[in-house]
Amino acid sequence: MTRKTMHIGLDDTDSTRKGCTTYVAAVLVEKLQKLDAEFTDYPNLIRLNPNVPWKTRGNGALCLRIRYDKNVEGQIKETVVKTVEEQADFECKGTDPGIVFFEGAQIPKEIKAFARNAITDIVTLKDAVKLVSKFGGEAVGFKKGRGIIGGLAAVGETLQADYTYEVLAYRVPENRGLKRCVDEASIFEMDEATAPHTFNNVDAEKHRVIITPRGPDPILLGIRGETPEIVKKALAMVKPLEPVERWVIFRTNQGTDAHLKKVEKLSQIKPYSPVIVRGTVAANPRTIPKRHIIFSIRDENAEVDCAAYEPTGSLRKVVSKLLVGDYVEVYGGVRAPMQRLPLTINLEKIRVLGLAPKMAFHNPVCQKCDRRLKSMGKGKGFRCEKCGLRYRDLGKVEVKLKRDLRRGLYITPTRSQRHLTKPFRRYGMEKRHLAFQGLIDGWHSP
Ligand code: ATP
Repeated sequence: MTRKTMHIGLDDTDSTRKGCTTYVAAVLVEKLQKLDAEFTDYPNLIRLNPNVPWKTRGNGALCLRIRYDKNVEGQIKETVVKTVEEQADFECKGTDPGIVFFEGAQIPKEIKAFARNAITDIVTLKDAVKLVSKFGGEAVGFKKGRGIIGGLAAVGETLQADYTYEVLAYRVPENRGLKRCVDEASIFEMDEATAPHTFNNVDAEKHRVIITPRGPDPILLGIRGETPEIVKKALAMVKPLEPVERWVIFRTNQGTDAHLKKVEKLSQIKPYSPVIVRGTVAANPRTIPKRHIIFSIRDENAEVDCAAYEPTGSLRKVVSKLLVGDYVEVYGGVRAPMQRLPLTINLEKIRVLGLAPKMAFHNPVCQKCDRRLKSMGKGKGFRCEKCGLRYRDLGKVEVKLKRDLRRGLYITPTRSQRHLTKPFRRYGMEKRHLAFQGLIDGWHSP
């Protein structure tokens, strides 16, 4: 019997009121295994550009990579289409599901490049459809079919650079929409026991659990980490106080900074693209309503605003200490253009590279009493309030003040990080050129 290889990309099945594309993938894992499909990789959860305007939540797309018997190819495709039809929230405007079937062990370079662009930029449905047909794939789109973009991008991102894992546990249907019940203490204990090999379990600043999402989607919790073994172990340490319907381990680009693209000049930044760019602080930080902080940076040719929003907590405090002349590298998404407002980078991280001296002008000191003198009015000199001595010819003295800010990297707190943001805990843990080792036994619930 001939075994073949297929990559199945899925996206845009959910809405803010129902569903989750990772759940469709989880259901399909079981259904496809019943058709004797063998998974050649964990289901891939690929986060795409977090700044696209069409996303529901985290702009995640999915890919299932399987080997299967040629005789069941029709059944496999039918099962995928039927499962999407059963699970997707078709009534919701803006939910435009897409499926991409791509055969063959190798993914063409052009599809890999399309995936890179979908993670760092904006791509079009037209280009996605063209590529699918150029390489003999098959695309199934529902409604506007926009999900084909994410489906193809998930097929094309084969996670050969840095990657991580996430185990997702799902709720039984009757509990969806109700408050999630998980023993919080067990999450803090799990975090301590598995650190630094798991990440983003809790927010240290607010002492808050963040593995349980809010909202009506079917996810009970998700634990992120460096290996499939550690996320599985971590799941076993957490005590759910409600039934878990199923769980699956995903391989993913979460926590890798894959979305951030280095841009040489400020004049090259574009709306909706996540960037890393350097500049000199051109205007001191100012607080705008809702406690957001804005400052601007410039280089030889351009100037842009940078924003640290209220939820960025400690990052906001750091940014508020910047001064004109500081040299910084900023990391973040470029906000959609708004009327009369300049291009703005929404900060995820900032690296302070150079600090400008903070200067102040003080009154001189009395040579007799060593006390600071009092001004007698502009250009009229100074007088000592203690001994009465007058100094008509003295001027203010310039003094260098200590800066309350150090050079270094600052990241928005865990609770306000993007799925793709690389957290502090992962620095030094990057998997460069580490070939994928294959699947562990028991990578999803029995
Ligand atoms: P969730 O994370 O909850 O599964 P979501 O946030 O992934 O939902 P979707 O419902 O999948 O959001 O909607 C995102 C839509 O944007 C999809 O149709 C996807 O194909 C499309 N899309 C994703 N990335 C890009 C991009 N870089 N350029 C253009 N379209 C994109």
